[in-house]
Amino acid sequence: MLSVVVPAYNEEQMIEKAVAGIAAPLTEAGIVFELIFVNDGSKDKTWSLITTAAQAHSFVRGISFSRNFGKESAIFAGLAEAKGDCVAVIDCDLQHPPEKLVEMYRLWEQGFEVVEGVKTARGRESVAHGLGARWFYRMISKAAKVDMTNASDFKLLDRKAVEALLRLPEKDTFFRALSSWIGFRTCQVRYDVQERAAGSTHWGRRALMGYAVSNITSFTSLPMQIVTWLGVGMFALGLAVSIEALVSWFRDVAVEGFTTVIILQCFSGSIIMVSLGVIGYYIARIYEEIKGRPRYIISERVE
Ligand code: UDP
Ligand code: MG
Repeated sequence: MLSVVVPAYNEEQMIEKAVAGIAAPLTEAGIVFELIFVNDGSKDKTWSLITTAAQAHSFVRGISFSRNFGKESAIFAGLAEAKGDCVAVIDCDLQHPPEKLVEMYRLWEQGFEVVEGVKTARGRESVAHGLGARWFYRMISKAAKVDMTNASDFKLLDRKAVEALLRLPEKDTFFRALSSWIGFRTCQVRYDVQERAAGSTHWGRRALMGYAVSNITSFTSLPMQIVTWLGVGMFALGLAVSIEALVSWFRDVAVEGFTTVIILQCFSGSIIMVSLGVIGYYIARIYEEIKGRPRYIISERVE
């Protein structure tokens, strides 16, 4: 059986469309499947629509969070809930074409354990957004040692891979990168990002920026190492300036040393602050993880 996990946050316009859109190609292909909607603390009628769908169709199930925990938590809750031999994750807004699920399922039948959906084009977005995304994915790709440039959350995983993901103890997850990090026999399926059928995206610029910082710090400690190199650079600069100052002192021309002092002050001050900030991010992360709070809290479920 194939389990399809659908995270949904304020998607009242999309629930019915998603049920129909995902069920049609799978039924046609003769694949046995279940649909698991994870209501991520929606403030609209999403949950009551999921309940209605679950009553109407035996293949629909739903779990509901006690509040909004974010898409990552919703995905992991879905994975934990799934009973299938393989599990797919797909967006509720149908930006990931459901027909591709059939192709992914066939690849799984051929023995692939992680089938990744890869975007051919990034869909419509602003120049700044595109640049930011490119920079972010380059950094993450280096850290995870896999090419993530066009990665997405649209994936199909074998039970083995799902178990491996669920065994990871970390609370702050990045599904897109972790599902590559775990390894297994992997292949890729290309797809075009569709326009959102209804509703609007939930990611503002600030939310995306926070998401990027959190994922970078969860995957690489490179920023912390950069801090060390900045320190080394500053030390070299300081050495050069000190020698210059000493030389002019011996030559009795050490009158206007103020410029150097000011430059040094500014430099070292700012670098120390930046460094403390970076270290702060990591300490915050350690703190978050060590609290050991659950990734999500389920308040209701329908079968
Ligand atoms: N989503 C979620 N929790 C959130 C934000 C989004 O479960 O806090 C779900 C949303 O319902 C959708 C998917 O994640 O199924 C992708 O969200 P969206 O379309 O807003 O993101 P985009 O496609 O613009 O990256
Ligand atoms: Mg979307």
